[in-house]
Amino acid sequence: MNACVLGLVAAVALGLASQAVWAAESSPSDKNVAVEKTSQGDLTVQPINHSAIRFAFKGKQYYLDPAGEADWDKMPKADAILLTHEHGDHLNPRVIDQIRKEGTLVYANASSVKKAGFGQAIGVGERQAILDITVEAVAAYNTSAERLKFHPKDRKDNGYVLTFGDKRVYVAGDTEGTPEMRALKDIAIAFLPINLPYTMPPQGAADAARAFKPKVLYPYHQGKSDPAEVKKLLAGEKAIEVRVLPLP
Ligand code: ZN
Ligand code: ZN
Repeated sequence: MNACVLGLVAAVALGLASQAVWAAESSPSDKNVAVEKTSQGDLTVQPINHSAIRFAFKGKQYYLDPAGEADWDKMPKADAILLTHEHGDHLNPRVIDQIRKEGTLVYANASSVKKAGFGQAIGVGERQAILDITVEAVAAYNTSAERLKFHPKDRKDNGYVLTFGDKRVYVAGDTEGTPEMRALKDIAIAFLPINLPYTMPPQGAADAARAFKPKVLYPYHQGKSDPAEVKKLLAGEKAIEVRVLPLP
């Protein structure tokens, strides 16, 4: 019996069968990994750090905002990379070079494409088939007066809804709880940022989650904020499973 199966047996024994199947960690590409069922097979979800997330689906690797510290040279090479915006904790050409291979697709908002000098632009509201998934760009911006300078709406930063089979996954990028976020429907998994002063506090993320009710919520992009606070604030929302991981 391998470690992964042992983990599942342990989870079942603890009565956690309805929650994610957490794989055992034996290499950097296993850290924080959860596996979700979709209509087209398993979806691997791996929050890597502050902003970076890896998804594996139908044998292909999709990275969101690969930047920051990680054992990038030990991670699977990217088939597609999606960037939300131009800040260095989301767009880091050096990290992209470490995970890209011949033919890796890169998509980003227009200002990031301009800044990086590579990639294809995808604009807010646009929908694009990328390999085996569909990607839709959702507006990401600050709404609080004192934070507008960080992510101004007119720069057109992106969040993304990625559709894997029948599962819709929302990666918010750097944003607050905008009307566009609150209007989202049928989100299986959401990643919402909680660090200040750049995005929103845990209360903001919890409030937005109450509006669009993702089935699973990862508070990410944490800085000094505590993801456990989001879980506490949403304790009364039985339909939302908050997954607390250290992703500062
Ligand atoms: Zn930012
Ligand atoms: Zn950021």
